[in-house]
Amino acid sequence: MTDTNSIYNRLGVSDQVLRFGQEVLEGLTDQFRHIDQVAEFNQAKVIAAMQKNRVNATHFNLSTGYGYDDEGRDNLERVYADCFGAEAALVRPQITCGTHALALALGANLLPGDELLSPVGGPYDTLEEVIGIRPSPCSLKEYGVSYRQVDLLPDGGFDYDGIRAAINEKTRLITIQRSKGYATRPSYSVEEIGKLIAFCKECKPDVLCMVDNCYGEFVETQEPTNVGADMVVGSLIKNLGGGLAPTGGYICGRKSCIERCAYRLSAPGLGREVGANLGLLTSFYQGLFLAPTVVSSAVRGAVFAAGCYERLGFRVVPGSGETRRDIIQAVELGSREAMVAFCKGIQSAAPVDSYVTPEPWAMPGYESEVIMAAGAFVQGASIELSADGPIRPPYAVYFQGGLTWFHAKLGILMSIQKLLDAGIIEM
Ligand SMILES: *Cc1c(COP(=O)(O)O)cnc(C)c1O
Repeated sequence: MTDTNSIYNRLGVSDQVLRFGQEVLEGLTDQFRHIDQVAEFNQAKVIAAMQKNRVNATHFNLSTGYGYDDEGRDNLERVYADCFGAEAALVRPQITCGTHALALALGANLLPGDELLSPVGGPYDTLEEVIGIRPSPCSLKEYGVSYRQVDLLPDGGFDYDGIRAAINEKTRLITIQRSKGYATRPSYSVEEIGKLIAFCKECKPDVLCMVDNCYGEFVETQEPTNVGADMVVGSLIKNLGGGLAPTGGYICGRKSCIERCAYRLSAPGLGREVGANLGLLTSFYQGLFLAPTVVSSAVRGAVFAAGCYERLGFRVVPGSGETRRDIIQAVELGSREAMVAFCKGIQSAAPVDSYVTPEPWAMPGYESEVIMAAGAFVQGASIELSADGPIRPPYAVYFQGGLTWFHAKLGILMSIQKLLDAGIIEM
């Protein structure tokens, strides 16, 4: 048998679930067309940046040791800067993850006596220790950098009066998180971020604005650096690595800020001149090249998941008709059993570790048990299809990624199948 439905049947998806998925898909044509248009623009943007910088085979050469005169590394950073409409970029395997990149950008551009302001409520979990909201050795707080935050208005909007009042003579850097991450607030469009930055700079012209860009890259045609951000920061095992980068992080922005980040990453006096590429440059260039379509696959998956689960009567954030700001989809499943079934479905659709059964477990640093499903080529890469969530009301799973749309589709169909098999839903 060679037709698509029968291979889906063999993978475990019943005809009933396939039909349901097909019906949902038919209602998503407009969203998918928009996703394609964004991907096409971003693909052209990446190619233009690579052509402008005359990318060629010598740029993929290995460097070791100090990594002096690493032209491939330096050129990749020019390509990134051009993609982001920025003056400079730091793109390195030595930046281990998003949190590291953010800590680097903050630590390099804040001095003792300075104040950091978050005008969008609390930051991503891991930044609490970076900032010192939760005590940690080497936090910004330990180094004499204070922190202030302005919470969002009840409707999720920016509290402009509160922000104006919070900006003072010590305020040096303003951090804005683009994606809601695992919080319940909305994610922001680049346009909204631009307005917020303009407002902050009106209050204090020399303040630096940094955007945590994690999960947002290439979801729109513009990036925060196109609307006034002084730095954008993110991880290469999320959107921009295109699934190929095995590690790494990036910071793009104003040259003066990026130079400081480089001195902080290596050492004062050394800066960006050192840092071996360890043979990873092909995966960085090629990953960036693939990133626009990889991100579009992930966004399609998120919209399809929203469409399916909406129709099954669950609350989904964002809704299937809403414009996407990032690749994350939340589905409120309402029970522990449903979360387990959902994650089993995602896991059983994976190319790696498909035979593993995810179970809730107590994780250090979390109050409730957590369940996770991931079968990834790169450990922890959340641009690959994955789902996770804390086992507590409203029993929401956060679903993200998918290097290909068809894999994301299979994962969602399998999740529905598992809920059906467990008697949690009817169709
Ligand atoms: C993932 C993420 C981070 C942290 O990145 P890690 O690579 O997990 O350290 C920070 N901010 C946001 C919004 C994220 O989604």
